[in-house]
This record gives sequence, structure tokens and C-alpha cells, in this order.
Amino acid sequence: MAYDANSLESHWMPFSANRDFKKNPRMVVKSDGMYMWDYKGGQIIDGSSALFCTPAGHGRREIAEAVYKQMLENDYTPHFQLGHPGSFDLAERVCRLLPDDFNHVFFTNSGSESIETAIKVILAYQRARGEAQRNRLISRERAYHGVNMGGVSLAGMVRNRETFGLTLPNISLIRHTWQEDQRFSKGQPKTGAELAMDLERIAENLGGSTLAAVFIEPVAGSTGTLVPPVGYLEKVREICDKHGLILVFDEVITGFGRMGTPFATQKFNVKPDIITMAKALTNGAIPMGGVAVTDEIYDTITNSAPDNAIEFFHGYTYSAHPAACAAGIATQKIYQDEGLFENAAALEDYFLDAMWTLQDHPLVADIRGIGMMAGIEVHSDGAPGRRGGNMQKAMFWNGLHIKWTGDNAIVAPAFVAERHHIDEIVDKFRKTLDQALEEK
Ligand code: PMP
Repeated sequence: MAYDANSLESHWMPFSANRDFKKNPRMVVKSDGMYMWDYKGGQIIDGSSALFCTPAGHGRREIAEAVYKQMLENDYTPHFQLGHPGSFDLAERVCRLLPDDFNHVFFTNSGSESIETAIKVILAYQRARGEAQRNRLISRERAYHGVNMGGVSLAGMVRNRETFGLTLPNISLIRHTWQEDQRFSKGQPKTGAELAMDLERIAENLGGSTLAAVFIEPVAGSTGTLVPPVGYLEKVREICDKHGLILVFDEVITGFGRMGTPFATQKFNVKPDIITMAKALTNGAIPMGGVAVTDEIYDTITNSAPDNAIEFFHGYTYSAHPAACAAGIATQKIYQDEGLFENAAALEDYFLDAMWTLQDHPLVADIRGIGMMAGIEVHSDGAPGRRGGNMQKAMFWNGLHIKWTGDNAIVAPAFVAERHHIDEIVDKFRKTLDQALEEK
């Protein structure tokens, strides 16, 4: 399929070098299973599940057909004082994947909206229980919590904030968990658990009773896969309990099997109070996100309002859109029927071992990974992020899609991958590294 070269100007692309892209567009026109095809017919293996969205692979007919059927039956019902059955069905399926006392999900249209919603849930909860002074949020350096104003304010990835300047007040960042001695350690690093004490220091300095919540990506994703050290999440949970803070796990990437368990909370055996999700909820087919909360949070907020009153004054026109719910239900059925979370768990060792074969390459500075997610960091060429940006482009023309962030590649294949797909990803990765080395 061709495209009209004159039609490229109008779309201002997100997180893209627009002027550069338009010189030689990496235009994808088809996707199926583990592959995508560019407009020249080039076949590209998808090493990052697009953006961590498609564990069931691309082009799933079951999802397309469910959405088509839904659109013919009932294209759109808003959820303001009105309902349609799909949202209740999907919410129940999601809750079945979560710890026992998570029985309520609020639907959004993206990960960013899930973060904004979580912030409002937290503030509403603290007020409802008579603790309105708890209005400080804590996040971490190198964190990514979406791009809306709350998420950008929480963001620890500096570039996400510095373009805009103005952010929300009352936010403190603690350190991220990567340390020099963790280089090339597979799975959870043995060192670094003590970094959780940063949270304790903030409580000591500002007063624990002023703190509302801490946001944690169980595995920091967009910054390049930072795996929590052994004991770190447990320590964070302990400090939250001591000072009455809500613990949010931002599981937009780790949710729905990426760790080989339904959510990362099960992998690490640490239970938060709020879980945000998006991406793989619908296998990426239709935009959708969600915020799951404990019964304690839901009951406190809803019971604080009089009968017949709207308890939580928040929502989006497209919250729980019927098409998104249909996609979500079909996706959850695929995960269950095909045992895809178990597949992810079974593939983990093979996948990580394959990634670690790149360890000796002279351009590789570090490899980190757990579950079906690995970060490969290349040595900077002097200008941070330039080598990564060039590698992402070169990989595409070598037939490999990998999401890069600065000089970090994030490899996160679909759970329908077979071993030969993993081998193909590693071969093409190595080939592109070799080319970059020759050009040096
Ligand atoms: N939180 C995390 C942990 C993410 O990785 C992302 C997206 N990569 C978001 C939030 C934002 O999601 P979205 O792009 O759907 O708004």
C-alpha cells in the first residue's frame, strides 16, 4: 500500500522528530501476529509489542469481530447516569485478575488518564476520611506516569517536564533504584533495597501526616526497564503503612501478564492500594485504561456522599466506551483461553538468556530484565540519546521494531512469540549494533 507523500504535513506526530520523520517515513501499513509491514513491503518483527500493548500479537480477528459486532449493536452509550452491559462484564474480568480486595475499576481512555484519575481518587479519599491535609504526592526520579499535567508533574524523566516548566505543587521525588553495581544483573538486583528509605526521610522531614500517596512503577518501564531490588517494594509498602500513605502501582506496562503473572503485584508479592492500567487491557486495539482500587478506598469515597448523590465527581465522555469494552472482553478471553500469562512465564528464561547474549557487544553498556521485558543500554556517542535514536531508525530498516528511550532499548515481545521469534529479534538487534560499530 502506498501513501501520499504530499499528505504528511498536517499530522503533528507525538513524541516524534517530525521534520526528520517526513524525510524518510517509517510508515507501517499492515500488522499480523509478531510482524508489521512497511509501505514498501518490508517485514518488521515487533520486538516491543508495539508500545507494550499487544501481548496476544497483532491482527487478532476475535477482537476485531467483537468490536464490529458491538458497533452494529450499540455504537455508543455514555456512562453518565446510564450504562451498557460490556463495562460491567469487563470490570469483573479485570477484578478477577487482581488481589481479593480489589473489586472496583474506574475506566479511562489511556494510561495518562488513569494517572490523573488515580490522583483525584487519592485526594478524594484523603478528604473523605478527614485527612485533607494529606495532599503531597511522591514519585521517583526516572519515573514515567503519562503526559497529562498530573502525570508530568509526577514524572521523573526530566525531559517530560522541562519543556513546559509549570507543574503541580506538593510533589516530591525520591531516587530511582538503579546503581552501578547492578550492571548486567538478571532479574531483581540484590543491592539497592535501602533506597526505599528515601521515603522515610521525606516523612521525617515533611511530617508523615502531610503525605497522601506514593506512585511506583513496579518495574520502571519507559526509562529503560529498571527492576526493583530484592526487598525494595516490601520496604516501600512497610513505610506507606507506617505513615498512612496510599501505595499506587502504575501497571500500565506491567499489567496483563508482562511479568508472567496477571499483574506485577503477584510477581513481587507486594500489594498496593491502587493499580493503574491501560495498553494490554485491550491488546492495544482500542484506547482504554483503568484504575482499580481496594474496597477500603471505594467504600470510603462512596459512603461519604449522601444517597442518590454522585459520589466521585469525575469521568470522561468516552469512559468505558462500548467498542473499547468489547475489545477488552475479547482480549481477556484470549489471554485466558490461550494461557498467555503462563506462556509469558514459560518464555521468561529463554527470552532473558537470549538478551544476555548481547552482553559482550562493545556498544552495550548494560542489560536489565525480568519477565518478558528487557532494557538494553548502549554507550552514548557523546550526545545523550543520539545513538539510541539512530539505532531505532536503523533497526526499523533492518526489519526490527524496538521502542527506544534515550540510549535504552526496551525489548518486550508479545506472549505469542515462539523461540525463533526471540532469536530473530536478537539477531537483528546484534546486526544493527554491528553496523553502528562499523560506522563509529
Ligand atoms: N504510566 C506508565 C507506567 C506508562 O508506561 C505509560 C505509557 N508508556 C503511561 C503511564 C501513559 O500511558 P498513555 O501513553 O496511554 O497515556
